[in-house]
Amino acid sequence: MSEFDLIKQHFTRATRHTNLSVGDDAALIAVSEGMELAISADMLVAGTHFFADTDPYQLGWKALAVNVSDMAAMGANPKWSTLTIALPHNDTTWLTQFSNGFFACAEAFDIDLIGGDTTRTKHENGLTLSVQIMGEVPVGKAIRRSGAQAGDDIWVSGELGKAAAALAHLLGSQNIPDTELTDHLNALHMPQPRIALGLALRDVATSCLDISDGLLADLGHILKASKVGADIQLQDILTSKFISSNLDKTEFRQYVLAGGDDYELCFTASPNDEAYLHRLSKNLNLPLSKIGKITSSLGLNSLGLNSLGLNVFDTNNQIIELANTGYNHFN
Ligand code: ADP
Ligand code: MG
Repeated sequence: MSEFDLIKQHFTRATRHTNLSVGDDAALIAVSEGMELAISADMLVAGTHFFADTDPYQLGWKALAVNVSDMAAMGANPKWSTLTIALPHNDTTWLTQFSNGFFACAEAFDIDLIGGDTTRTKHENGLTLSVQIMGEVPVGKAIRRSGAQAGDDIWVSGELGKAAAALAHLLGSQNIPDTELTDHLNALHMPQPRIALGLALRDVATSCLDISDGLLADLGHILKASKVGADIQLQDILTSKFISSNLDKTEFRQYVLAGGDDYELCFTASPNDEAYLHRLSKNLNLPLSKIGKITSSLGLNSLGLNSLGLNVFDTNNQIIELANTGYNHFN
């Protein structure tokens, strides 16, 4: 099968918001009046971001979903994507499942695939996927990382740590019981980007990002960009039943504070918006947890997370020594 046939068979579907799609030298799109284009890209590399034998449907979903998540974090409405893919084999079964997963996510969020590039790699395990996403946000309304202010509440959506626990389970270092396994594996393989939340936060959140590298590492980006500090209450962070009741203190903290791949949103908002956010949580049927406060502290030393003025308090209101618990390399 030629490269052209492969693209036609697997990556060409009807579009909804596109003037010219797959098949020409470039795609053509028109940005709606009063909107800015939000653009982001994320690459997934076999062996680094996923196992080479990962289920292709789930991989297709995730390749797009992690990009959609970046739109959610900006308060942007995703509309267009491109897909660049380096394939070791022209395996029709694999490609069919992969593209079905990709388009399942595209349909769920009303996104067109408008172009890309397809190439062969000579490396047996060299499967590489790069997705670019473009979305619209009203001019000036995008939620940046730099707007957090002292006194703002810090909020997180969903249950943190599940993807990291699922990964540990797959690697054999954790044993999640059958009753909770699907939920955790779904968090890892089929992340649900929080678009509805992101859109509803446009006029509320003072800063926002999606959690891909772990709560503390990602919150650290907000603190740096906003030049503020934060106090976090560990017990207010929502996680799964398995993580909260089966794990020791160190593992619990590892998953909840440093577990990557969650794709939940972490955002800041004025305390005046608390009631709105509780209502929003009900309407979206999505937990929103208030986990701490932005402080004016810029941090006193240059070592570890405390240099960001980031303090995490345990149930006894004692500061957890992050530097001694292995989180400092998540800076
Ligand atoms: P060119 O040689 O002009 O770069 P290509 O042969 O690489 O064109 O691609 C032909 C068309 O198919 C282009 O419109 C391109 O955007 C699209 N395309 C290529 N690979 C993909 C893919 N994996 N997914 C979606 N569209 C693709
Ligand atoms: Mg090309």
